Amino acid sequence: MTTPAPKFIGINVSGEHMRAALVDEHGSILESRIGGVSKELIPQLASIVADLRNVAGNVAALGVAIPGLVNRQTDRVVSPRGLPSTLVEDLHGELTRATGLRVEVENDANAAAYGEYIVGAGRGSRNLFYMMIGNGIGGAIILDGKLWSGASGFAGEVGHITIDTEGLPCVCGNTGCLETLASAPSIVRRARERLHRDSTSSLSRLGLQKSFTAEDVAHQANEGDDFALMMIERTGKYIGTAVATVINLLNIERIVLGGGVMDAGSLILNPIIQEVKRRAFQPCFEATEIVAAKLGLDAAPIGAAMLARDIH
Ligand SMILES: [Zn+2]
Repeated sequence: MTTPAPKFIGINVSGEHMRAALVDEHGSILESRIGGVSKELIPQLASIVADLRNVAGNVAALGVAIPGLVNRQTDRVVSPRGLPSTLVEDLHGELTRATGLRVEVENDANAAAYGEYIVGAGRGSRNLFYMMIGNGIGGAIILDGKLWSGASGFAGEVGHITIDTEGLPCVCGNTGCLETLASAPSIVRRARERLHRDSTSSLSRLGLQKSFTAEDVAHQANEGDDFALMMIERTGKYIGTAVATVINLLNIERIVLGGGVMDAGSLILNPIIQEVKRRAFQPCFEATEIVAAKLGLDAAPIGAAMLARDIH
């Protein structure tokens, strides 16, 4: 009797949501679970793992993706931003004890990048840079097929590249970071400021809404609202400026752009590409494909599972 191929579990824990997947050894999802994040995080994760192990017995390892940074040398969670306060620094040790599985804990952008690399928009490339543009902005570098996490695990923090040297303070302590201009909350803040001070924006439907989200801005842009369109294009310029820097630095084969802000589709992708073309060193630009991510919210759980498969 042959032993069945190993399976892997990947779980993405964001501030409020949890997305778990049981995947086969090639990264295809066999079963998934979606839910909220409870206060008792470790028991909750352990019970999801037990549930998925009932579906397939031969689970070889568990990968968990979190919005915080993870120190590669110590496996400790360094910056649990946006995570439940019950999240423990030694997530790795506690999960290992609670599940009995080999555990890999990884930053969510790193995990999503790896998911896109294995089965999504990064497939077929060996070198790619991934950007996750949502409530925050994260990034990850894959070089020669391997996640390159830097000296201690924090490589790829593209959201904290300075775009505006006179800009607003950022959560990281710097000012004018890409994240202060192009994350979803920053798009809303910029749109709100401009609606207040600029009479040319008075025709925008956004001005009629008491509160709006970055999704609403993208929706109105899609409906042909000039002001919303301008806000999305501006955002694309900021992102493109950062992407040009990445391209000049790495001469990378492919740039994969994911996260909620990219749901605006070509409305944002086109201005990004135009800005990169305008700013990047021409031979570098010509050697780089810039594409939208394909896996959506499945990227991080799949990637976490595949990192658990590949990192030992
Ligand atoms: Zn910053």
